[in-house]
Amino acid sequence: MGFPTFRGGVHPPQNKDLTRDKAIEDYRPKGELVFPMSQHIGAPNAPVVKKGDRVLVGTVLGSTDAFVSAPILSSVSGTVKDVGPRRVTGGNFDTCVVVENDGLYERDPKWAPLPDYENCDPKEYVKRLREAGIVGFGGATFPAAVKFAPRDPGAIKWLIANGAECEPYLNCDFRLMLEATEEIVRGMSLLLRLFPNAEGVIAVENNKPEAIAALEECVSRLGVVRIRVQPMTVKYPQGAEKMLIEALTGQEYVVTALPADVGCIIANVRTIQQAWRAIACGEPATERVITVTGDAIAEPKNVRVPLGTSIAELVEFCGGFAEPPAKVLSGGPMMGVAMRTLDVPAVKGSSGLLCLTAKSTMLARPSACLRCGRCVDACPVGLVPSDLDSFVLLKRYDDFEREGGMNCIECGSCTYVCPACRPLTQSCRDGKTFVMAQRRKAAVKK
Ligand code: SF4
Ligand code: SF4
Repeated sequence: MGFPTFRGGVHPPQNKDLTRDKAIEDYRPKGELVFPMSQHIGAPNAPVVKKGDRVLVGTVLGSTDAFVSAPILSSVSGTVKDVGPRRVTGGNFDTCVVVENDGLYERDPKWAPLPDYENCDPKEYVKRLREAGIVGFGGATFPAAVKFAPRDPGAIKWLIANGAECEPYLNCDFRLMLEATEEIVRGMSLLLRLFPNAEGVIAVENNKPEAIAALEECVSRLGVVRIRVQPMTVKYPQGAEKMLIEALTGQEYVVTALPADVGCIIANVRTIQQAWRAIACGEPATERVITVTGDAIAEPKNVRVPLGTSIAELVEFCGGFAEPPAKVLSGGPMMGVAMRTLDVPAVKGSSGLLCLTAKSTMLARPSACLRCGRCVDACPVGLVPSDLDSFVLLKRYDDFEREGGMNCIECGSCTYVCPACRPLTQSCRDGKTFVMAQRRKAAVKK
């Protein structure tokens, strides 16, 4: 029997073997940690500490009253060394709080499990998700407190835990599903209290049979009746929100809508696990697992790091570079962001660090479009990437918008299949950035 999937998509080499069997290791940084004030979709935070302040694990470093946001909490104990602009992933500068780590990892005593968390008003969970700084850890970084508070909780029919991890090379979610199975299942169980009419579905690509078996055993052992584990077809980008919803529920939905509009709440397995830890254990979001991999890295690993850890230090922890890398990406090869420097901090959205040598990096020059249509067949949201590319190059942004360019999920499938090596995804990204900037300007004028 086939497993659920979606139309379009591609089958890139998975390259997961480098870290698939590597248990998660903990890294404890010793020097300074850097906390950007914007690590999520939504309003940036303002620093609430100043140079010289003593902070503990879980102390709020930055916050805002804006609805769509999530506070930034310290992942170490120590002293605030600086508040100011620092370079972040992608090359931009962001306002950051810099903490000199004292190495004691002293916890802020205000953090404790939510009292009577199995029977309390589930709305308390939403408050806790916000206080704990939880966002979508799959990479989208949408604030969890907003996601888990839809207008009509009774209309939610599916709570989906996204364990697809379709991005090649990455194993952070796979390892978490193996090593924190019970926390994920218990987290789903708690969060289902928010949605009385919903079924819980843990969706996992079928190339992770050990994770599927572990989750199924756990669901059955704990006797949880509202949750099922659903193996999915192995196809990229199966883990994209839109693709997963369409495959599981058979419903089409436009990328610009919210999953709640079609009765779904969807969250990465790490988000669900972190929700459990915040509610039941009183632990805020101060760390995450990162897959450090690629043929340029000496010892590929899955590493749990305090947020704010220097990426350069993380590379050292993995034995440094075996060969000079030709390309370093934050994330995987399909959706990752090229890094100009390693002197940036690990943030909530850092799922992987992919270090590739020249021989495994395609640096071919783009040539003219061959009109072969492969990008059209591959696009999972039904766009014509070759046309969108032309519109952006010709600065015909109205045409870009009219032809659905804003629905591009930047999955990279079109670039992957293009025999002319055209940077189609980058064109779409550029087009979306331009249109969004125009919209912001227009909104300010009104
Ligand atoms: S146009 Fe966008 S959504 Fe379509 S394949 Fe390319 S990157 Fe993916
Ligand atoms: S895959 Fe490349 S060459 Fe083929 S139609 Fe699309 S842009 Fe043109």
